[in-house]
Amino acid sequence: MEVRLETIPEAVPPEATSPPGDDLRAALRRLERAARPLDPGSTRRRHLRNRVLGLGERFLRQIRTQPGFVPDPGPGPGLDTPIPERGLPPEVVLGILEREVIPPGAHPASGAHLAYIPGGGLYHAALADWLAAVTNKYAGVFLPGPGAVRLENRVLRWVADLVGYPREAGGNLTSGGSLANLIALVAARDAHDISGDRIHRAVLYATSQVHHCIHKALHVAGIGCVRVRTLPVDDGHRMIPEALEAALAEDRAAGLLPWMVLGTAGATDTGAVDPLEPLGKIARREGCWFHVDAAYGGFFLLTPHGRRVLRGIEESDSVVLDPHKTLFLPWGSGVVLVRDGARLAASFAGSGHYLQDALPDPLEVSPAEVSPELTKPFRGLRMWLPLMLLGTGPFRAALEEKLLLARHFHREVRALGFRTGPEPDLSVVTYRWDPPGATPQEADRMNRAILEGTRRDGRVFLSSTLLEGRVTLRMAAVSFRTHLREVEQALDLLRCQVEALS
Ligand SMILES: *Cc1c(COP(=O)(O)O)cnc(C)c1O
Repeated sequence: MEVRLETIPEAVPPEATSPPGDDLRAALRRLERAARPLDPGSTRRRHLRNRVLGLGERFLRQIRTQPGFVPDPGPGPGLDTPIPERGLPPEVVLGILEREVIPPGAHPASGAHLAYIPGGGLYHAALADWLAAVTNKYAGVFLPGPGAVRLENRVLRWVADLVGYPREAGGNLTSGGSLANLIALVAARDAHDISGDRIHRAVLYATSQVHHCIHKALHVAGIGCVRVRTLPVDDGHRMIPEALEAALAEDRAAGLLPWMVLGTAGATDTGAVDPLEPLGKIARREGCWFHVDAAYGGFFLLTPHGRRVLRGIEESDSVVLDPHKTLFLPWGSGVVLVRDGARLAASFAGSGHYLQDALPDPLEVSPAEVSPELTKPFRGLRMWLPLMLLGTGPFRAALEEKLLLARHFHREVRALGFRTGPEPDLSVVTYRWDPPGATPQEADRMNRAILEGTRRDGRVFLSSTLLEGRVTLRMAAVSFRTHLREVEQALDLLRCQVEALS
């Protein structure tokens, strides 16, 4: 992006910087006129709104036939347009978006996106974002935004009730799971005083399925050199409680400081849910902080199956959920909850003189008191509005549908001759083409070829990972637009690919 400085005129002529009486008024009137485009009137607003909503409508009308992945054709001319001194017409600017920004790459808003952890993009949430931005209510601190802060606290309480946390729980709406995990880890660091030479003796217990954002969070929290013990997993990629107990005993005997048991509830790779109930009991007995990363899996608590699989989550000390995954919100929504809310305030309270009359409020915790942020988007609205307008019923139905789709895919992909693990815990299925007689390296190549074949076709978007060092394919049913049609399409594509191999 190029901004040509020579094209910027001096806003105020030098002689007008300290003009006397009338000249000053004239200069102010001129400047007010020049700045007026910043605040369009109702006719211009309607024109602009129609153009923007029109683009949104065109996008949504073709979302069902849109491929899950479009290869990047490289940069187009539009994005090299310099930021102008005088604005360009909406048609021109929105055309650049429509041609060069929206089409290439993955389509997380499409039901054909079955790779990584797909996203959502609920229309109701998009309209909530628009309202949040237009009203620009301040959601960081209670005094300027009492309604916004109350709303965010109600939304957090709804999630805390879903998890089964007590009244004294606290939380924060973040930009996503990575930041939510960072906040939880900082609270756990301070609660256990992981500082000074205790850092080097502290141990965190997890499995190979732990999300990489945890390592990042430890580093950012200044405790990157705590010991991370990678425990073995069962055939469903879940932590083995007996292995945890053995590791804890060994580490205590060696004079180390067991600090955190980290359960993953819906691993990004495999969808595996660690056995939270026994892990929580062990953590409590050993005096460890029990953190559950349920960024992907947490909202399956809305379903009876999810409640069974995630049993024990209510005993955790902190938990992370990502509404931009399994609550189908647009990107930019995470939740962190801490069982003892005072722990969050202990780590993140802090205030400046300029806030002396604004913090704290006796009844409502302000987001700024329990997170690293001060000013932040009014994130609660994009979650509250869809939940209020739709109720939880359609969310529960969509999540149950995803669980069933994963089971269906698991059965059918196995019937095609792929090797799969046990039934999926949630809605991610891993599978590998592993024909008899092929060496592991040959099988790796075949799986890469199968994936590339599906990418060339593009109708659905699948991804791969490494499990025990071997290339393994994945299918993640997460989007609210993923239905039987998309999953059957994926199975068809895979059938064509393996037929081409043999
Ligand atoms: C997605 C995910 C994260 C990271 O969350 P972001 O929202 O991408 O920052 C962390 N842990 C798990 C288990 C996840 O699925």
